[in-house]
Amino acid sequence: MASSDAAIGHGGEFPLIEALFHRSRGRPVEVHLGIGDDAALLAAGGDDDWVAAVDTLVEGVHALPGSDAAAFGWKAVAVNVSDLAAMGAAPKHALLAASLPRALPRQRAEALADGLHAALAEWGITLVGGDTVATPGPLTLSLTLLGRIDPNQALRRDGARPGDTVYVTGTLGDAAAGLELLRAPPAEPFPNQDRLIERHLRPRPPLAYGRGLAGAASAAIDVSDGLVADLGHIASASGVGIELDAERLPLSAPLGEWAWATGRDPLPLALSGGEDFELVFTAGAEAFEAMHRAKYQTDTRFTPIGRVVAERPGEVFGAGVPDGGGYDHFPTEGAG
Ligand code: ADP
Ligand code: MG
Repeated sequence: MASSDAAIGHGGEFPLIEALFHRSRGRPVEVHLGIGDDAALLAAGGDDDWVAAVDTLVEGVHALPGSDAAAFGWKAVAVNVSDLAAMGAAPKHALLAASLPRALPRQRAEALADGLHAALAEWGITLVGGDTVATPGPLTLSLTLLGRIDPNQALRRDGARPGDTVYVTGTLGDAAAGLELLRAPPAEPFPNQDRLIERHLRPRPPLAYGRGLAGAASAAIDVSDGLVADLGHIASASGVGIELDAERLPLSAPLGEWAWATGRDPLPLALSGGEDFELVFTAGAEAFEAMHRAKYQTDTRFTPIGRVVAERPGEVFGAGVPDGGGYDHFPTEGAG
């Protein structure tokens, strides 16, 4: 533990959450699942459970300063939808805390609202409240999302069992390549580079697919910080090892074009690039029917990428797989 006069910036994001916020160990019966998963599960007293998650977007941290305001509004909703998708839940209501610089141009504020409402409409979510303040800091949106799920159906991080297969939806690494393209546009644009940029700007988490996995997959998490880092949370919560086959990671055709145009290896982006907002999940053979039904009903592809083992609990390993990695808001010194 860091000494008490040190700044908080260098101890790691998860130790910080543990030290500052994860104090109440005794849980009232109304809380089925508290801190530590993609969302909390709360007994609502009715036939189903409430699911609650909050995520914050800061301009300059989660988006380049002065970038597409409509996309920023969209993403504030999408990142939360991703957490509910990772629980297998259905989002219903949102609360928005908007911290707006006074100098924000009206036109950007309106574009922001347009993007926000487009995403709310996309996933059938009603904005029911929030708070608006002026800030001397950067534009910041914090959205709380509430949803529902049938009791005991949620996709938690702690249910992976040795023998399960690890799957991921969609393709990996696209959003990280899109961000690099915005940071340093190539001299010669290539045909489908906008599809990568779009994946960074306007993520579309596979919500319907996640709902189809509820009650069937053994564990799930969304790929927000990077595949290896996020799978590491399943490995530690479930007390299992996860062996990844890096050569099986699903890569998109536009990412292939990016690799060809830049001469870079796309694999590190697929393993450690964040913000793909795909779902990575573990499942046994009994989940097969639900996985395939959801695939055809929602037109979502999934790929087996590894297996759950009893050895090396808490670790994600395999040829070409880096240790940890992933995005950390408070990286330990020497890391990040
Ligand atoms: P995610 O990436 O799924 O949004 P995080 O990695 O941000 O989740 O957080 C990990 C866990 O810690 C989550 O269960 C989250 O709710 C919890 N958490 C993060 N910050 C705080 C905080 N300030 N107070 C209480 N819980 C927190
Ligand atoms: Mg998450």
